[in-house]
Amino acid sequence: MIRIYLENDSFEHDVRSLTKAFFKKEEQVVTYMPYEEAKNVTSDEDIILAVFNDKEDIKMQLRDPSGVLHTEEFHITEKKDRRLYKNDFKKVLYKVCVKATGTELPWGTLTGIRPTKVPFDFLENGEGEEAARRFMEDEYLCGKEKTDLSLEVAKRELKLLSAIDYKEGYSIYIGIPFCPSICLYCSFSSYAIGAYKNYVDKYVDALCKEIEWAGTAIKDKVLKTIYIGGGTPSSLSAEHLEILLKKINETFNVKDLLEFSVEAGRPDSITMEKLVVLKKYGVTRISINPQTMNESTLKLIGRAHTPEQVKEAYAMARQAGHDNINLDLIIGLPGENADSVAYTLREIEPLNPESLTVHALAIKRAANLKEQLDKMYALMPTDAAKMQQLTSEYAAAHGYDPYYLYRQKNITDNLENIGYAKEGKECLYNILIMEEKHTILALGAGAACKFVGADGSVTRTENVKSVKDYIERVSEMIERKEAVIRSGY
Ligand code: SF4
Repeated sequence: MIRIYLENDSFEHDVRSLTKAFFKKEEQVVTYMPYEEAKNVTSDEDIILAVFNDKEDIKMQLRDPSGVLHTEEFHITEKKDRRLYKNDFKKVLYKVCVKATGTELPWGTLTGIRPTKVPFDFLENGEGEEAARRFMEDEYLCGKEKTDLSLEVAKRELKLLSAIDYKEGYSIYIGIPFCPSICLYCSFSSYAIGAYKNYVDKYVDALCKEIEWAGTAIKDKVLKTIYIGGGTPSSLSAEHLEILLKKINETFNVKDLLEFSVEAGRPDSITMEKLVVLKKYGVTRISINPQTMNESTLKLIGRAHTPEQVKEAYAMARQAGHDNINLDLIIGLPGENADSVAYTLREIEPLNPESLTVHALAIKRAANLKEQLDKMYALMPTDAAKMQQLTSEYAAAHGYDPYYLYRQKNITDNLENIGYAKEGKECLYNILIMEEKHTILALGAGAACKFVGADGSVTRTENVKSVKDYIERVSEMIERKEAVIRSGY
């Protein structure tokens, strides 16, 4: 356990997430206590972290269970705003943790989910690559490799977005919160469609109502991209998909879209009929996601499909005319090692997808799965960084460039998720949602809107997560968004 003693709650979240990155398996207990008292607390079992911060001084002391003390201090000589002060605070915390563990983190003090936002903003504001690099390294103590990666991605993002007049546009996200079965590691609010079959009709109806509203909601911007995600949208029947896509086609000018993506997702939900419906209604990009091509892993993580079904779904999608297919992989899956990832990469090679998204496993500890998750933790790989290296080498050798990246809470080995694509096959929506550069109107249960104002500020609203609540309260969800639009954001 790590016992954390804070003087106040001003940076509690930052302390929790950064110490979690160093001491992954330690449970955290936070107590408020004056530093002078906290620094004398000892324990034969626990790690003790005492934190002090006021306007001028930041002091931290970390005592390991054997009684060894590690200390770090910083004196602030100039007045700083909260953001810069927070950077100093996190640097002191980072350094004391490095002293105690002898380990550096590849992303330094960056614990947020969008590390490319920093270099992107520097480049967009014309401050240049060198200034962005210095800021990443000096302010966030980010390692060279990750600084290079985030800069490469940010440059590509900026080039792609600059070509589409993104500030004059907006995008639509539509959430389908159903899946054929629920994966063990799932951190989304998704429902097994079998158990919810009596709600699907009503869900599609409610969604169509929200879509109809969205058609006239944003009058001064042009719709650039649509993304249907989940969940697994293809777990809907071909008939339900057709109702939904027909409504989208009637409501929006789909032909003028830059991109219309559907996350088909699970191969066990894909049929030729559904693939034909997607094509018929203007979908330009789909995702078919094996995650791994190792059958035993698929069973272990509760994905009720086989590697063979992945290949069959791909063949069907090509036959139905889909010429922009993404494939998702996950590294760090339980029971796997670098050899398993190498096998997966060999197996997907003949499929030759247009893009490849490589996720590092992030586990959200859900109480009802605690027992299974504990078993899974015992099987966690120790060579995730090697796995990631294999995937990035594979991407480079097969003509894929990294074009977006993001991180998640509890992500394996503090790594990141990286989207790779062949030139011209990048998913613009993925960049837009990460960089928060234009409004994303999000529809469906649990969907989260981001309204981006003229000054770049972001206002969020979220729909209720429960399918039943969403069906009953869809008018209220619409009104929530209306209120933000009326406010001018
Ligand atoms: S397919 Fe994705 S959304 Fe569905 S249960 Fe698995 S992880 Fe969750």
